[in-house]
Amino acid sequence: MKKHNFSAGPCILPEEVLQKASEAIINFNEDNLSLIEISHRSKPFVDVIEKARSLALELLGLENKGYKALFLHGGASMEFLMVAYNLLNKKAAYLNTGTWSDKAIKEAKAFGEVIEVASSKDKGFNYIPKGYSIPKDADYFHCTSNNTVAGTQMKVFPETNIPLVCDMSSDIFSRQLDFEKFDLIYAGAQKNMGPAGTTLVILKEEILGKVERHIPTMLNYKTHLDKESMFNTPAVFPIYVSMLTLQWLKDLGGISFIEKVNEKKAALLYGEIDRNPLFEGIVAKEDRSIMNATFVLKDNTLTEKFDKMWQEANINGLHGHRSVGGYRASMYNALPLYSVQALVDVMQELERKN
Ligand code: PLP
Repeated sequence: MKKHNFSAGPCILPEEVLQKASEAIINFNEDNLSLIEISHRSKPFVDVIEKARSLALELLGLENKGYKALFLHGGASMEFLMVAYNLLNKKAAYLNTGTWSDKAIKEAKAFGEVIEVASSKDKGFNYIPKGYSIPKDADYFHCTSNNTVAGTQMKVFPETNIPLVCDMSSDIFSRQLDFEKFDLIYAGAQKNMGPAGTTLVILKEEILGKVERHIPTMLNYKTHLDKESMFNTPAVFPIYVSMLTLQWLKDLGGISFIEKVNEKKAALLYGEIDRNPLFEGIVAKEDRSIMNATFVLKDNTLTEKFDKMWQEANINGLHGHRSVGGYRASMYNALPLYSVQALVDVMQELERKN
């Protein structure tokens, strides 16, 4: 029986996507060649990457609105660097909501002045700062929509006239947002899309060309826009699986459908965390992530018992991030509601036995 996989990534994918992906490894398009043996410039693969790019834009409602979608290498961490390389001329503004924002800020500092408009570092990133102001003369504003590590999520995004850049690695395609607000969105594939190895970047071309420095070819967004993600060999398999997952999501009813499912899963688990006297959540309630729920046992002496119980219940990946401890239940798009119910059942059984 497949495990209830609450792992923070990588990566949880729908059963039917895994099935099709494994078939393509052996025999792609019934051509007696593997997907990973064919040329990335052959029509069958060009069709795959074009479909993946257009599905990404379609699902986000960004088709024909001046956006382009790219599949790049280097993970979201490479985007920390590329965003600054391509957009930071003199000064950029960043909101610091966790480990990943912190890393993005560190990279940006190599290219110019970085204004940290607000930070929740003082409380271990257990909330999303509010009421900050963004300098009007900054080249762009950068934020992280979902803090995968602590389990917080931005529910509102600031109004600003400068380009808005967002790392959506851990909640892209999980909830409906006004995506047109953003000028550049990036996300590593490995939470809601596909295997690690490719990063989705969605951007408006008009924000480029404003920095004075020379940008190395591979780090220049223009290179990849001009070559439609085919400047060098793309990550063929992760892009194929991403395409399958995006098609799966579209067939289900798109983001508005999955958002309702995700809200149901989150309500079920947070409801139990709040009801069960043995547990408590660790982030501000209004900032709780619907993707990554973090919680602790109030009584540490129950840890061994609880860990044994959820492992015996076929649950995987529940330990919190090493920097936070406790538990983290990641409920990405492909995690079924019954998996969350299985975890809730274990939490209730622990309560009954104590
Ligand atoms: N940003 C966020 C929000 C993440 O959750 C992660 C990884 O979990 C990253 C960035 C880093 O992604 P990558 O490992 O693809 O560089």
